[in-house]
Amino acid sequence: MSRKYRHIETAVIHEGYDSKDMLGSLATPLFQTSTYAFDSAEQGERRFAGEEDGYIYSRLGNPTVAVLEERIAALEGGERGLAFGSGMAAISAVLIALTKANDHVLCSEGLYGCTFGLLSMMKEKYNISSDFSAMESKEEIRALIRPETTCIYVETPINPTMKLIDLEMVAAVAKEYQIPVVVDNTFSSPYLQRPLELGCDVVIHSATKYIGGHGDVIAGLVVGKKEFLDGVAMTTQKDIGGIISPFDAWLLIRGLKTLPVRMDRHCDNAEKLFERLRQHPKVANIYFPGDVDSPDDAIYQKQMKRGGGMISFEIDGTKEDAQELMNTLKFVKIAVSLGDAETLIEHPATMTHAVVPEEARGKMGITDQLIRLSVGLEAWEDIWTDLEQALNKLKVHV
Ligand SMILES: *Cc1c(COP(=O)(O)O)cnc(C)c1O
Repeated sequence: MSRKYRHIETAVIHEGYDSKDMLGSLATPLFQTSTYAFDSAEQGERRFAGEEDGYIYSRLGNPTVAVLEERIAALEGGERGLAFGSGMAAISAVLIALTKANDHVLCSEGLYGCTFGLLSMMKEKYNISSDFSAMESKEEIRALIRPETTCIYVETPINPTMKLIDLEMVAAVAKEYQIPVVVDNTFSSPYLQRPLELGCDVVIHSATKYIGGHGDVIAGLVVGKKEFLDGVAMTTQKDIGGIISPFDAWLLIRGLKTLPVRMDRHCDNAEKLFERLRQHPKVANIYFPGDVDSPDDAIYQKQMKRGGGMISFEIDGTKEDAQELMNTLKFVKIAVSLGDAETLIEHPATMTHAVVPEEARGKMGITDQLIRLSVGLEAWEDIWTDLEQALNKLKVHV
């Protein structure tokens, strides 16, 4: 972590901004502007030539966005950050920057649905192929690396089954072949897991989730080496153009200030609910990164600070029972997305993972009885009361 501030709780509030530079404004000012006036034609020439620092046009840089980028870079412990208009804009900018026609990407088994869709499109259009691996051992990864592999792309915890991948191990194998490792860190946020410190090269966030934290922004962030991100900024970001709006950057700066406080509460609530859910007779299986009885516990202890706010569980019943359970909830909202103040519940097989072919869903453990919960910031007792009354109403199968 950190440039100026040693603790993440301080860095989320102060890093990248000093009110002294902005007329004493405590809150970061919102520079809601598309362009910047030059003092002279010659100054414009110098800025375009890269001979003088300064803003040109907001697709190329904006002072509010710059504060956010500096802050997230510090939180993830990277050299530079870049902000995008969505998590997918960030993911596509990075994957396109790292590949050319006929290259190969090695991925974790289980990817965000649209990332999977993007890779399918890249295969169709540019013959960029991908393989999927559980990444449980070095040998398993080595066996799938080819001369044309230019990127290893990992999500951990894997959505929605919460399986963990050992990032230090993946990074060590990738170093042997000098292949960059990209990690989608959306589920953990830099408060719980920092992949760059484990040897990975690029971190991506859907900032829509825990970083924004209030369910009112769609945005993406990338952190990595300055040289790589300078390249992304001047190519796939500038020329494809998936930039963030200054206002959304402003909302993320505001959201980030409470990230550690919110994450601790998400984790506290999830731990309480995990213990209760696992004991309920209608819950057949439960997946939570903080489960000390999980086979992934050693990886968890190594790379995550706490278990996060995401729990998936299988009910003892059918798809219709799962839907019935969701419909019986009183205040828990049926919605995709995650990391919001509100507790959200969704059905992966028919919602977030409906695009995954049924056979692959089966392999990933995404059954019709699986339900995913994004534990919110409400009192855990209230969330449990709602879940319990719905579970208790489920039909008994004999
Ligand atoms: C939501 C999400 C994305 C996509 O981000 P958007 O902001 O919706 O574009 C990517 N990866 C993960 C793990 C996500 O949860």
